Amino acid sequence: MSQAILNINTDAIFHNWRTLDEQSANNVETAAVVKADGYGLDAGQISGLLSKKNVRTFFVAIAEEGIAVRKAVGNTPDIFVFSGLMPNDASIFHKYNLIPLLNSSEQFMRYKTEFNEAPFGIQLDTGMNRLGMEAEDFFPLRDKASCASLIISHLACADEPANAQNIKQLKTFCKITNGLNVRRSLAATGGTLLGPDYHFDMCRPGVGLYGGMPFKQAEPVVKLSIPVIQSRKVLAGETVGYGGHWTAINDTQVATIAAGYADGIIRAIGNGSVHLYANNIPCPLIGRVSMDLITVDISRLDYVPNSLDLLNDLQTIDVLAEAAGTIGYEILTSLGARYVRKYISG
Ligand SMILES: *Cc1c(COP(=O)(O)O)cnc(C)c1O
Repeated sequence: MSQAILNINTDAIFHNWRTLDEQSANNVETAAVVKADGYGLDAGQISGLLSKKNVRTFFVAIAEEGIAVRKAVGNTPDIFVFSGLMPNDASIFHKYNLIPLLNSSEQFMRYKTEFNEAPFGIQLDTGMNRLGMEAEDFFPLRDKASCASLIISHLACADEPANAQNIKQLKTFCKITNGLNVRRSLAATGGTLLGPDYHFDMCRPGVGLYGGMPFKQAEPVVKLSIPVIQSRKVLAGETVGYGGHWTAINDTQVATIAAGYADGIIRAIGNGSVHLYANNIPCPLIGRVSMDLITVDISRLDYVPNSLDLLNDLQTIDVLAEAAGTIGYEILTSLGARYVRKYISG
């Protein structure tokens, strides 16, 4: 079999959830964001796992993502949809009992037409200028908003604790919502780590659950093992891969492994700093990343391994992200559809 295996450590996910939950007081709920198919790890699997551990609230980006989550968690947990209620969405919200986070007065009117008493939430824009009602859109709806299940907003710079925008957004959020008797949520992973002022009634981490920055103490969750399909000796002076991009200085043992940029392994990592691991022994990635293949210098091994690991506890999603010029979120959500996802505890 030449399919790569993505091992997903479910104990680490729950450990990360619990560690984030412990940042906030007991009366603050900690939800789980499982958008983008659970950050690439399968929203149904992740939400099913967390709901068994009594996580009661989930967030997805678009209504369609709520279907797999509802099927996995049963009828009780709340599932909020960040994009709110878009045209033609009503039936899916009804059928799967999803809760829109209404982002505009237009969405609010649509909600009033399509639903009578069903629960809804509101998303405010407090300075990110991306999604949500601004203060002046919200003000005329303020009385009606008192029956919302939840009011949220999102921080633009929470991964930089010293950034003045955090406190500015916090103040704006308070100014718009103080005095309303509605549960409130401002913090994602970064905001959860900013401290209690940011917690309100609910924190809603995503990336930290999956082992990513800005949650420094996170336990790594994923291990990606890619089968070796061939190994050859390359003589000094010969080149490897497209463009003859890499030239052997000495005779080199090269392994070819079965994954590439079609699996979300960003081509830009072929710049020298990334390794593939045989257990914990690092072997340099050499040459260009192809669509389905990567070449690795395994000269330091005295055997040809069955597989090599691109992601593990030493080379985490954030280490790989750094090499690719991106962020851990993009590494996770790019994890390939061709991988076999295996859920293991411990
Ligand atoms: C993605 C997202 C989250 C989760 O963010 P993380 O940084 O992954 O913790 C929370 N709230 C909103 C509105 C989001 O879009």
